[in-house]
Amino acid sequence: MARRITVIGGGASGLVAAVMAARGGAEVTVLEHKDRVGKKILMTGNGRCNLTNVSGFYGKYFSSDEMSLKKIYNALERFGADDTVKFFRDIGVFTKEKRDGGIYPVSEQASCVLDALRSECAQLGVKIITNADVSNLRSVRGDRLILAAGGKAAPSTGSDGSGYALAKGLGHSIVTPLPALVQLRCEGDFFKSVAGVRAQAGIALYIDGKKAACEEGELQLTDYGISGIPVFQFSRLAARALHEKKKCEAEINFMTQVSEKDLGGPLEERYGGKTVEALLGGMVHKKIASLICRRHKLDSRQTVSDAGEKRVRKYIDELKHFRVKITSANSFDNAQVCSGGVPLGEVSDCFRSLKAPNVYIVGELLDCDGICGGYNLQWAWTTGVIAGRNAANDND
Ligand SMILES: Cc1cc2nc3c(=O)[nH]c(=O)nc-3n(C[C@H](O)[C@H](O)[C@H](O)COP(=O)(O)OP(=O)(O)OC[C@H]3O[C@@H](n4cnc5c(N)ncnc54)[C@H](O)[C@@H]3O)c2cc1C
Repeated sequence: MARRITVIGGGASGLVAAVMAARGGAEVTVLEHKDRVGKKILMTGNGRCNLTNVSGFYGKYFSSDEMSLKKIYNALERFGADDTVKFFRDIGVFTKEKRDGGIYPVSEQASCVLDALRSECAQLGVKIITNADVSNLRSVRGDRLILAAGGKAAPSTGSDGSGYALAKGLGHSIVTPLPALVQLRCEGDFFKSVAGVRAQAGIALYIDGKKAACEEGELQLTDYGISGIPVFQFSRLAARALHEKKKCEAEINFMTQVSEKDLGGPLEERYGGKTVEALLGGMVHKKIASLICRRHKLDSRQTVSDAGEKRVRKYIDELKHFRVKITSANSFDNAQVCSGGVPLGEVSDCFRSLKAPNVYIVGELLDCDGICGGYNLQWAWTTGVIAGRNAANDND
């Protein structure tokens, strides 16, 4: 008799686990509490689905400790980006590589990834039951269960955190889930005046006064704080530090594109007749230049000569070291992923629960999160493939 495997959650990790388990000869059922599977997949990469990234995965993931990171990288060695590209090509999704190593479907449509996974499930005879909410694992039948219920990020897609309760019911502990790849809220009334500004900038995160991370890229200013890829990349560190009641600040360098060489010698000599606001406005976004002038109560007609070389240099220095206090991360509604979850130490190398041996735990439900760029879906594919394959064939 074929082994019966029930997958709870029809997201990225659950669908791939179902495919692999069915390929291994199991009779597979997917239980999904939304009215359709893969809702989050459709949202990924702004609807284009950044499937994975071939620029290497070391240093791109976070977890609670070094042992967990080792387990993560060990799994990615067993099923990594190239395997993902091949897996999808084999089910009819042809891909292309972008500059940063990000892999997308050639069609640039996330729907083609979901369609291919659904079609593969159908061909393999995987039974998909939607509108099936699992609130208690005792009521679920199957020789093996694969818990693929996701985290808490973007709950409207179905990942409402119920997976944590199911894992807890099995005796697992949970590292507090927090939003990651998310905007950060900051102190300062001035944000309203600069909302909408997009600027190429350097941005460093300071936790309790110590530099914890540094990124460069397109910073977006909103009416409540900071956003954009460079902010997303370290948002999980900030969210966790704030959760631990630590002080978080961001230091923005708006001047990454104007070097000392560009500034040349004394500014007063060349630009003395220009207003300070106009000079700064030639180096950074006009709204940022005005903000600096307002902060220093400069009259809009004040010239570089009026202000003097020393003061103008001080304003430029402020543009290089613009500090803001981070007060909170935006909520799970806005987050792309979730940090925290079931500790990697509580599952085997094949993601089999060490608390309940008939259960496998995969995807974002585990205590692993990656930076932007295809790494989170890769984690879902990796864990889904390894667990699905094993669940069909483990011998005890
Ligand atoms: C806007 C957005 C854009 C993103 N873009 C990218 C990107 O381009 N590249 C990338 O790598 N990552 C991206 N991510 C992250 C990526 O989508 C997730 O990391 C990944 O989908 C996690 O897969 P998962 O299977 O663990 O969970 P999910 O995809 O969240 O799937 C979990 C499934 O389980 C179901 N479920 C939950 N609880 C129950 C229950 N009790 N009973 C039954 N069913 C249940 C849910 O409805 C859901 O379908 C993005 C995320 C968001 C929100």
